[in-house]
Amino acid sequence: MSMQLLPPRAGLYEYTSIDLLIKDINKHAKDQGYAVTRKRSKRSKKGVLMKTWMRCDRGGEEDAKGHGHRITSSKRVDCPFECIAKLQFNLEDENGLGDWILTVEHADHNHLSTKPSASIVQRNIAMQDSVVLHEIQKEFRKGSKASSVLKGLRMDENGLDSIFKPRDIWNEFARLRAETLGVLTPTQALMQNLTNQET
Ligand SMILES: [Zn+2]
Repeated sequence: MSMQLLPPRAGLYEYTSIDLLIKDINKHAKDQGYAVTRKRSKRSKKGVLMKTWMRCDRGGEEDAKGHGHRITSSKRVDCPFECIAKLQFNLEDENGLGDWILTVEHADHNHLSTKPSASIVQRNIAMQDSVVLHEIQKEFRKGSKASSVLKGLRMDENGLDSIFKPRDIWNEFARLRAETLGVLTPTQALMQNLTNQET
């Protein structure tokens, strides 16, 4: 059974890092209704990333059934899709930029297209968008509720609507909270809080 979800373009990807390449592939995959994730990687003795195998986020062992909790993401169905990125030329800069050759080892999927909102991979990528992050940080500082932030993001008109779930905002809020506590000790945080209330 093969489904017509188009694979990414095979061939040369110039001047990019593996992270940017995977992001690029996922931009295409999002339109097609799937997402790609790292399967394994190979490094040289010097620690340079030489090769990365990628699979569909619905690849891997089928999820165990009957846990009784709500399913918030699409299930793994052992999808056979696979592609490989191989480093051609390394610029040896700190961002790991270089030229990569992408080959599609297995182009077909064994499932229908999935909505981006059902893919944790696609939601995480959308969450990294600077506009979204800025909005969430702004609301966090204002002390807004996560649910109202979600509503605001859904009303946004630059194509970022409705991909997120409440837990994505909660996670980001938790991260920001931890970050704030990481910079200031709990006592300092409390003092700053008290000072803010006075002004
Ligand atoms: Zn798949």
